[in-house]
This record gives sequence, structure tokens and C-alpha cells, in this order.
Amino acid sequence: MTTPSNGVLPAAHESNKTAPWPAYVTASVAWHAGAGVFAIAAPASWPWAVAAVAANHAALTAGGLWPRSRWLGSNWTRLPAHAAARREIAITIDDGPDPAVTPAVLDLLDAHAAKATFFCIGAEARAHPALCREIVRRGHSVQNHSDRHSRRFSLLGPKGMAHEIAAAQASLADITGEAPRFFRAPAGLRNPFLAPLLQRLDLQLVSWTRRGFDTVRRDPRDVLARLVRGLTGGDILLAHDGNAARAVDGGAVVLAVLPELLARARSVGLVAVTLPAAAQRECGDAAAPDAAQPASMSSAG
Ligand SMILES: [Zn+2]
Repeated sequence: MTTPSNGVLPAAHESNKTAPWPAYVTASVAWHAGAGVFAIAAPASWPWAVAAVAANHAALTAGGLWPRSRWLGSNWTRLPAHAAARREIAITIDDGPDPAVTPAVLDLLDAHAAKATFFCIGAEARAHPALCREIVRRGHSVQNHSDRHSRRFSLLGPKGMAHEIAAAQASLADITGEAPRFFRAPAGLRNPFLAPLLQRLDLQLVSWTRRGFDTVRRDPRDVLARLVRGLTGGDILLAHDGNAARAVDGGAVVLAVLPELLARARSVGLVAVTLPAAAQRECGDAAAPDAAQPASMSSAG
């Protein structure tokens, strides 16, 4: 079994290692302490201290409900600058594996010589382990999308959240032989407990540049238009094999979208790669132990 630290670590990992807690959360703790001191020093002003703490909680909650925000810690919304410079994009496919959809997705990717990243649900992977292994066998990447994809994920405390992530991590590593290095929260929703847990498990949070809303939108043209708007190197696109909406012909929307999406990407010189491949500083150096080096993520948007 490979470890999450083989090859080149995503640069955001490096910055995580030097920051024990996201800066915004650290500032929030200080904010609480300051409000407490203020209330003690000037008891008559306690309503202002309460209001200050309430405002801080509202801001933290808003950060968790905005999937692409970085208020609660490192969050990839685009690939690293070196991947963008290589004209790479990442197609990420969530909520599987699904025996009714995933095999056809794999065939479409093969037909276009494209690689993708599958953010799998731990429970679904345990239900369909052979399919999960087939994803990896065909050159794609399996990453962590929580164990049960709970709608309440962003309401969980640190213990419940740790279980959701660690259980999926253990199952996916056991089934595929490769420990995931990336995590995506269900629906992209989270809370301040998530960042320290991901840091402990050496996982990089990934959201997306654009999503097609293909769990609810039934018109493939609509989903495709959302995904290709301003398509360029470094984009992270979100589609679904699990929980996929069905088009009028009864097929999963992603199956109608992928051929045109992949053709358009290729027509403008973009290459669809996995997230671990995009994280590498140099092409083909993933297994080289001496390849590990810090990288700048400053330009990732
Ligand atoms: Zn999902």
C-alpha cells in the first residue's frame, strides 16, 4: 500500500504543516477571548461582547456553507500553478462507485484517453469493491468523499466528522491499495472542525472551479454549458456518477455530458489528469523519493 506522502506533496499540505490551525479559526479564538476580557473589564457592555461572539459564529458558519471559501483552511478550487501551466484540468466525479453508471463513465474516459478523479463514498466502495478497483486499474484516482455522505456532515462534531473521514480512508485504502490524499466534503459543506482533522490525516481539501449541478439538472446541454464556461488550464470540474440526475432518455446526465466535455477540452489543448498527477511538480516523478519538494500554491485560485 502506498502512503499519502509518496511523490510530491500538494503544496497546500506544506503550508498546513506549518499552521496548526487555520488562521481564521485562530483569530476567532482570540476574538472570543477578547470579547470575554472586554465583558469582564466593562460589565455593562456585555451585550456588545455577546454580539461580537455571535457575529464571529455567523462568519464561521458562512465560511462552512460556501464550498469554495478558504476561511476555514486550505481548499483547492483550482489546480496548482504548475499543473495549469501544463494545460491540465481535473475532472472529478463524485458519489460513486455506482454499478449502473461508473462502468460507462470509465469507457467514455478510455475512449477519449482522459483520466479522472473519483471522489468515492466509503460505504459505496465497500458495496462495490471490484468496481472501485477497476477505477484504479484503468489509471484513474479514487479519493475520499466521506463514509456515508451524510446530509448532516457539516453539523457533525469533531468525533463524528473524524469517524466519517477515517472510516472512508481506511476502506478506500484497503480496497484500492492506495491511501487517498484528497478529501471533498459532502456537498462541499463543512465547519471549523474539518481543517485540523484533514491536517492530522494528511488530506488536502478539494472543492471545484465549476460544477454542472448534474444531480438536479436533467438537461445535458445545460450541465455542459456550466462546466465549459471559461474552460482553461487548472480548472477542477465537478460531475457525478452516483446520485446522477437522469436525462430524458433515462441515462445518467454525466454520460451525455462527458463526450462533448472531453472533446472540447482536447480541442483547446487541455489534458484531463488525476488530482495526484496534477499535484506532481514534474511529469512522471510521482514515485521518485527525491522528487518531494515544497511548491508554491500562491497562484491557485
Ligand atoms: Zn457528494
